[in-house]
Amino acid sequence: MKKVLPWIILAALLIFIIDWSVIGIMIFNGNYDFTAGAYILAVCLVIMLAGLLIKTLVYDFKICPGCNKKIPHKSRFCPHCGKEQP
Ligand SMILES: [Zn+2]
Repeated sequence: MKKVLPWIILAALLIFIIDWSVIGIMIFNGNYDFTAGAYILAVCLVIMLAGLLIKTLVYDFKICPGCNKKIPHKSRFCPHCGKEQP
């Protein structure tokens, strides 16, 4: 799951961009019936936001081996006990 999440966000972003271009072409051609496209946009937006939220809240943390407290994933030293992280 940890390695899949960035790909899901990337895929949602890609579909988001492609869908925008499709809607753009449709509007350019005078076709304003893009309800399905709008739904896809909304779904992609929700997936991206949820993915980023989950990534920030769940995966950007690790447990310190010294004191077993939740610390930011990138920290080199534990802010609670000062132990150097592996
Ligand atoms: Zn610690």
